[in-house]
Amino acid sequence: MKNLENIPVEQRRRTNPLAHVFDEFMAFCQSRSLFMLHYCTGCGAVELPPVMTSRFDGERLGISPMVSPRQADVLLVTGYVSVKTLKRVILTYEQMPAPKYVVGICSCTVNGGMYWQSYATAKKLSDYMPVDIYIAGCMPRPEAVISGMRDLMEKIRTGKADSWKDYFRNYDHYLGQQQRLFGPKWQTPTDIIGEAEHYGLITKNTRGEHTRLLEEHQKRLEPLEMRL
Ligand code: SF4
Repeated sequence: MKNLENIPVEQRRRTNPLAHVFDEFMAFCQSRSLFMLHYCTGCGAVELPPVMTSRFDGERLGISPMVSPRQADVLLVTGYVSVKTLKRVILTYEQMPAPKYVVGICSCTVNGGMYWQSYATAKKLSDYMPVDIYIAGCMPRPEAVISGMRDLMEKIRTGKADSWKDYFRNYDHYLGQQQRLFGPKWQTPTDIIGEAEHYGLITKNTRGEHTRLLEEHQKRLEPLEMRL
C-alpha cells in the first residue's frame, strides 16, 4: 500500500469517495449564485436592464448585479472595446478573485463587428483575456443574453468553465498581446505570477519573453501615478 505522505494533496483528497459528491455540490451552488459585474462599454449595454428587470428577470436564475470586482464572479463586456477602455477592462478582470468568468456580449467583442476597421478598437476580446462565452448579435436580444448565461451556468456546474486558469497558464501570451497594443511599459498593479503560484497553475507558458520585459520596466505604482 502506498504511503499517504507520498501522494500529492490533490490526489489524496480524491481517495475520499465523498470528494466528488462534495465537488459537484459546490459546483452546483456556484453556478446558481453568480454576481455579475457589467462593464457597460458599447451599445450592447442597453439590453442589460431588460435582462435584470421584471420582464426577463435574471435574478430568478440567481444572477445579481455587483458593483465591485472584488465581489464579482462574472465580467460582462457589452460591446466594442476601445484601446483605452481595454486597459480598464484588463485591470478590472485582474482584480476579480478566482474562479472568475468572462462573457463577451455583441459581435464587436467576437471579431470587431462593424468597427473591425477602426484604429481605436481592440478587435477580439479573447486575444487579451480568456472568454468563457460569447453572445453574438448586434445587439443580442435579452432572451439571447439569458440563454448565454444559462450556458455559462451549465459550464460551471459541469466544471468546464475554467478559462480563468488559462490566464495563469498562458500569461506570457496574454501579456504579449497587451504589450503589442499598449507598448512595452504596460503594467497593472496585480501580481499575476504570484497568483498563478498560489493556485499551482504555473506552466512553461506562464513566464517568457513578455514577463521578462514586464520585470524590466515594472516599478511600484502610486495611485496618482497610474497612467491608464
Ligand atoms: S455589436 Fe452592434 S450593438 Fe454591439 S457594440 Fe457592436 S455595434 Fe454596438
